[in-house]
Amino acid sequence: MAQADFVAGRQGRYARQRVFAPLGAEGQARLQAGCVGIVGCGALGTHLADMLARAGVGTLILIDRDIVEWSNLQRQMLFDEADAETGTPKALAAANRLRAVNSEISIIPRVLDLGPEEAQELAEEADLILDGSDAFETRYLINDACVAAGTPWIYSAVVGAEGMTLNCHVAIAENVRTPCLRCIWPEPAPPGTAATCDTAGVLNGAVSMVTGIAATEAIKILAGSDAVSRELRSFNLWDGTFDAITLGRDADCPACAHHQFDWLEGASSQDAVRLCGRDTIQIRPEQPGGTRKRALDLAAVAARWQDLGEVQLAPATFARLRLAPYDLTLFADGRALIRGTDDPAIARSLYARYVGM
Ligand SMILES: [Zn+2]
Repeated sequence: MAQADFVAGRQGRYARQRVFAPLGAEGQARLQAGCVGIVGCGALGTHLADMLARAGVGTLILIDRDIVEWSNLQRQMLFDEADAETGTPKALAAANRLRAVNSEISIIPRVLDLGPEEAQELAEEADLILDGSDAFETRYLINDACVAAGTPWIYSAVVGAEGMTLNCHVAIAENVRTPCLRCIWPEPAPPGTAATCDTAGVLNGAVSMVTGIAATEAIKILAGSDAVSRELRSFNLWDGTFDAITLGRDADCPACAHHQFDWLEGASSQDAVRLCGRDTIQIRPEQPGGTRKRALDLAAVAARWQDLGEVQLAPATFARLRLAPYDLTLFADGRALIRGTDDPAIARSLYARYVGM
């Protein structure tokens, strides 16, 4: 009988990892000392967070800008019907679920839209960042922030029955790192050219597969293993095809060779963006001085809305006004999600009317 079978109670929580020889007690201790940032709590992010919380990674920072919807439940494994019914912010719903799974680790939810400032802060504080974003702009921003801070990150993508993952900017020997995202793809694909989960669908098995690989790489990186992959790995679960290509760094890479950080330094995204595949517009009002952050008193806003429609308030996080056919969710930093329209002009006008620009 394996040694792990004799470890009873809470002390046995990580027994099956400690007896896994390549990890051992030392590897497990390193996981518990580690801090991982997960950007996006959708299909990829919830699977990754669930595996790493159960594996005992000491600190998880969960970042997401969105709220739980019914169409998420098919593959976003930390959410349930109550979360969809109440439209709970994904980062909070994920943190609540994970705290019930593992109360011995620290879970820090952040309901926000990752911009250059937040990306830099995250790359400084985390030992590793995992991409669960499903958005090119966010991935290039993560890449810039991680290369600038010297932090490793893992790219993951899934659509249909296909998945792909790559360890980016991971130190694998003295002065040797794996390629960064821009070594492989110097520029993102033009908008509208790549298949998305909204146009091509997604199978939950493909999500499990790609995050199974990425979470295992994360554990290797945190544990300081020399078995960290240098390959771009991809598969199609429907056709049963698997590929792995070893890739090196580009000596002329704009990011990791020339330290040119276009997404960190570039102008931030538009003030109103349509969120992928839904009748939802996100508004991030620009403030004097160029910052997009506000510090709103959500309770005061909710009080002003009382007579207008159905109001829901979580004072530290969000206030929501249901005003058929629209649904306005306002966050403390001034960002808002407006459901019920795909027209940025209508969304801006609702924001101006009920929040104020
Ligand atoms: Zn590079």
